[in-house]
Amino acid sequence: MLQVFVDFDGTITDVDTFDALVRAVAGDAAWNAIDEPLLAGEITLREALARQAAAIRLSRAETLEFMLVHAQVDPTFAAFVATVRAHGGEIRVVSSGIATVIHDALARASVEVEVIANDVDFAPTGWTMSFVDPSDNGHDKAANVRAAKARGDRTVYVGDGISDFAAALDADERFAKKGRALEAYCQARGVVCESFESFSQIQMRLFSA
Ligand SMILES: [Mg+2]
Repeated sequence: MLQVFVDFDGTITDVDTFDALVRAVAGDAAWNAIDEPLLAGEITLREALARQAAAIRLSRAETLEFMLVHAQVDPTFAAFVATVRAHGGEIRVVSSGIATVIHDALARASVEVEVIANDVDFAPTGWTMSFVDPSDNGHDKAANVRAAKARGDRTVYVGDGISDFAAALDADERFAKKGRALEAYCQARGVVCESFESFSQIQMRLFSA
């Protein structure tokens, strides 16, 4: 069976919603103070997410209102989900981002799909992250891919960033958002990886004979 795993932030949406939120609420300096050691490999994504969350003091309602303006779901994603299912496949969203935000954005785009993601406690003194598992990314996305492969499924991974690196390598086929970190990561390793800008392109590649 075909199993498609899709990152959310920057992959289904045009921007990384968590990045946009931290920059807007805490400022670019606070953002850079966390992003630079992350990119340098000095702190884990888990640590970076926990620090970023602590800097945000928005209510759930304020957060969803912010996302309404800033996070646009790829308008071709709903048709892609339907096409995967029409071909007998399964599709899930795997994210290191905030489940509450993801569910809201997908509902607005009229997409019903399983979401495996981190989440936050919207405390007024700063958010606390709750992670899917104890891994360095706070969510071992690659474990989902490996479990599907162990069942004998054909796995496809779609992503854009650091949290997608290991999962993309483990999948049978991979798609990377054009111009983002995952694309460069695959190119640097000589790993076959299709670049994409919208889910309609992935749909063409997977389902047009
Ligand atoms: Mg992403």
